[in-house]
Amino acid sequence: MICIAIANQKGGVGKTTTAINVGTALAATGKRVLLLDLDPQGNCSTGLGISRADREHSSYDLLVGDHDLEEVAVPTQVPGLDIVPATQDLSGAEIELIEFEARTHRLDAALARHKGGRWDVVLIDCPPSLGLLTINAMVAAHALLVPLQCEFFALEGLSQLLTTVERIRSRFNPGLSILGVALTMYDRRNRLTDQVSDDVRAVLGRVVFDTVIPRNVRLSEAPSHGLPALIYDHKCAGSEAYIALAREVIERLPKLKKAA
Ligand code: ADP
Ligand code: MG
Repeated sequence: MICIAIANQKGGVGKTTTAINVGTALAATGKRVLLLDLDPQGNCSTGLGISRADREHSSYDLLVGDHDLEEVAVPTQVPGLDIVPATQDLSGAEIELIEFEARTHRLDAALARHKGGRWDVVLIDCPPSLGLLTINAMVAAHALLVPLQCEFFALEGLSQLLTTVERIRSRFNPGLSILGVALTMYDRRNRLTDQVSDDVRAVLGRVVFDTVIPRNVRLSEAPSHGLPALIYDHKCAGSEAYIALAREVIERLPKLKKAA
């Protein structure tokens, strides 16, 4: 079971959209995928049409309670794609976790308890902060997928993220790698975004995925229908890009397996 955390402490860069659509694309290839919604806002859960009533258990129960993955995961409408939803109480978890001695390893322990082999890939949708929730994700993960919005300050903030990764590596999780950086919300008509994408590639090199996710209104409409864009409109430019990104993710997985 490979665990990938989708992280960037900036909000609105495409973490949740990436989690939902890469997760859906991976499931379409036959992988059994578990999405773990670790953002108290619960956008990943809502975007997949998981109603409040269906959130009897949540990622809070994994982190603060002692529930097992099987108890908190629920199926989505997408075959092969399950989700551990997020609920409001997760917003208190950052504080409650402080009480635990193993506060940075709660999620790691929960994933390690799971011996059933029910899922091939776990994708964690992180909140927009570098607090204990994201740290739990980084400690539990084999690798990070970092969405980076094509905007002027794209690289700003990334150094803070990389410093955190370095700290997690040296203290808790030496094998943590960067699976890749995905450029999101690329706007062909805006020459600035071209410049940004060139700059990011010049600085970060091959860790940046070839696939660029375009700004595409279908991607932003889909969650209000409770569906992944890949199902809402599988032919739109955004869906095609996420299929291509998922292909690159699959190509990079074997490297992680060796480390795992
Ligand atoms: P994050 O999880 O990092 O906060 P989201 O994935 O929720 O970011 O994206 C923020 C907003 O932008 C959402 O309303 C989402 O629907 C929209 N969005 C995300 N990616 C795109 C895109 N490529 N094109 C257009 N809208 C997008
Ligand atoms: Mg989000």
